Amino acid sequence: MRQVIYKDTPYSVYSKPEYSGVVGISSGGIYEIPEALSQELQDQFLQGSRVVTILNQQIAENSTENETTRMILFSRQSGQYGYLIHTPLPLELLAGKSGKELIDLAVLELKKAEFPDMIQQLVALSSPEKIIQRPYYIHRATVPTSNQPKWNMGRVVLAGDAAHGMPPFMAQGANQGLEDAAVMTTLVAEIHKQNQWDDMAAIETAFSKYEALRRPLMERVQYATLTRLPLSSGQHRQEYAQQVYTRNIEEIMQTLL
Ligand SMILES: Cc1cc2nc3c(=O)[nH]c(=O)nc-3n(C[C@H](O)[C@H](O)[C@H](O)COP(=O)(O)OP(=O)(O)OC[C@H]3O[C@@H](n4cnc5c(N)ncnc54)[C@H](O)[C@@H]3O)c2cc1C
Repeated sequence: MRQVIYKDTPYSVYSKPEYSGVVGISSGGIYEIPEALSQELQDQFLQGSRVVTILNQQIAENSTENETTRMILFSRQSGQYGYLIHTPLPLELLAGKSGKELIDLAVLELKKAEFPDMIQQLVALSSPEKIIQRPYYIHRATVPTSNQPKWNMGRVVLAGDAAHGMPPFMAQGANQGLEDAAVMTTLVAEIHKQNQWDDMAAIETAFSKYEALRRPLMERVQYATLTRLPLSSGQHRQEYAQQVYTRNIEEIMQTLL
């Protein structure tokens, strides 16, 4: 849709998403591992939980990069494990990698990030048929205002990932898409009520209101996603929660009308 609405405009550069620099590598489901390794993982990491996030704190703190290698490790029951690794990688290194080659790449990245042997062993045992990779892309909400592409053209308006797709590190993509939908349906219902379907100025005003409300929040959410600042301290967490979770959506809707 972006390619259609930005075609032959100064915004055509924003038709396609930008690689975020980070890839997800997933086991593609649960698989069995030997009992001894399972016990080590339970004792060291899971300690009775079904899911944990693992990262090398020392590397994360000393890194100048926004992103360091992380693993979400989950266990269904004793001996059954799955994972999702987020790791910064150039796209060229990832291209075409699957099966055993992808397992080797994942193990290498964990080694570079100094993850313990038991985690490397776990990944080395992944099923080559199931392991999958997915580079994460972003449509940045923050762009130079001199060349900022509007989210709408005529009767077409972007919402969800098409407007502001982002990596899933703060679990906000779908949530923000739903908020877009809530705002947009409120505005479109008003257009219907006023019978303004052929009034392009009214439609433009509605879409501009939507973007003016949503873009600044998306800038903050994407910033938090890319830097993971809210996870770094209690104060940052509180500020982020204030911005993202404690808004009264009904009050916001009222301001639109
Ligand atoms: C690993 C992972 C974990 C995530 N975890 C979370 C989370 O915990 N919380 C959260 O809020 N978000 C999460 N997200 C993000 C969330 O999945 C997305 O933000 C959300 O799905 C975007 O919804 P959307 O409707 O905007 O786009 P999509 O879900 O991409 O829907 C677009 C649809 O349009 C279809 N389509 C594309 N082109 C055409 C065409 N030309 N004609 C017709 N149909 C077309 C596509 O097939 C697709 O079905 C996660 C994402 C990933 C990858």
